[in-house]
Amino acid sequence: MSHVFPRQITAPPVKAVSAKGCYFTDEAGKQYLDGSGGAAVSCLGHGDPEIIKAIQDQVAKLAFAHTGFFTSDPAEELADLLIKYAPGDLDRVYFVSGGSEAVEAALKLARQFHIENGEPQRKHLIARRQSYHGNTLGALATGGNAWRRAQFEPILVDVSHIAPCYEYVDRAEGESAEDYGLRAAQELEDEILRLGADQVMAFVAEPVVGATMGAVPAITGYYKRIREICDTYGVLLILDEVMCGMGRTGHLFACDADGISPDILCIAKGLGAGYQPIGAMLCTKQVYDTIGAGSGFFQHGHTYLGHPTACAAGLAVVNAMFDRDLIANVNTRSEQLMTALREAFGQHPHVGDIRGRGLFLGLEFVEDRDSKTPFDPILKTAATFKKAAFEAGLICYPMSGTRDGQLGDHVLLAPPFIITEDQIGELVGKLQAAATAIPHLAG
Ligand code: PLP
Repeated sequence: MSHVFPRQITAPPVKAVSAKGCYFTDEAGKQYLDGSGGAAVSCLGHGDPEIIKAIQDQVAKLAFAHTGFFTSDPAEELADLLIKYAPGDLDRVYFVSGGSEAVEAALKLARQFHIENGEPQRKHLIARRQSYHGNTLGALATGGNAWRRAQFEPILVDVSHIAPCYEYVDRAEGESAEDYGLRAAQELEDEILRLGADQVMAFVAEPVVGATMGAVPAITGYYKRIREICDTYGVLLILDEVMCGMGRTGHLFACDADGISPDILCIAKGLGAGYQPIGAMLCTKQVYDTIGAGSGFFQHGHTYLGHPTACAAGLAVVNAMFDRDLIANVNTRSEQLMTALREAFGQHPHVGDIRGRGLFLGLEFVEDRDSKTPFDPILKTAATFKKAAFEAGLICYPMSGTRDGQLGDHVLLAPPFIITEDQIGELVGKLQAAATAIPHLAG
């Protein structure tokens, strides 16, 4: 009998015993194609000898050193590398152990910045509906996914949620893409004014929404307007690239495609590529220097900050992305995957939208394509699809909650950057097998 506490207590997971390249093998010897990198984590695939060696060397040299006393070579080098390529004025990197920790740090930093900048009244946070920013209480309160929040609502801090930029559902008939993007961004200004022009500390959003919506990028122009609004009202812009960052969308940082830069940026998943748990919060020189010239102390921290072994893994991962030109591969494979998805599902009666950027693509399932009506949640379309895909030997990331409330189902695809053209064919074939196996989805 197992003493491990699985999330799905009624259906404990299968035991994985090994993984190599784009495949997992379970204890019965069955192979699974990793079509979602777990949850957009395994960007380099599995068993990469270079990353393993970097970790082994670091463990032997200096596995851990507490940041209350020490920094380390891998932390310094990784910070330099990230800042070299980071957008805008991002200048400092705070290393944590994952995405939720990066978001928590960002929220605290935003609040502390305003206090030390002489505006302690700024305490309101604005984020978007249908978003996910992590599961610790601050990050969960920031996220707008109704189902994840529901039972914890009474213990969550108050956060305002505006609509996401969700062209497929929210763009009105006859409305231009540009007008829709501006209309969606306007909700931010309206909410800031409702709360008080000098009362808001930060706005948090994912450049390409992952877990909750299935790879939904914003309309061109949306983030430019968001940036302007934040600047006008002195609101810090926090971009959460925990899922969509680190090359996943075909740029090292997803916001590069939107032509803007944030005040604070969160990354995680692809940074460690699954080899070590690591996340990071990057902030501008202005934010850093304000605290440096004020209290001189960031009132936040965890035991494993700047963990040398995790940083060594992150450093090897980012170096591998450049040395092996993997982001170019993301763009090539993205086109192939998009083409294959359109061929397989472009006319499917229950696939309403195929979208995304880079190797971060999603399909939205609908009951009716013309009216874009979602399936009844009682059908548990996403959960059923996950199970059928798993049976077909495919790891993908289906979720419900694409629409407001718990309506709407999608499947998110985020394969390793090393996926081959043949494996793309295999991935799409397995998606088709899964769809065919589900009576209400079969085309
Ligand atoms: N932010 C985003 C956008 C995410 O997708 C996730 C996880 O899926 C998180 C934050 C939380 O990251 P973690 O699970 O590493 O705490």
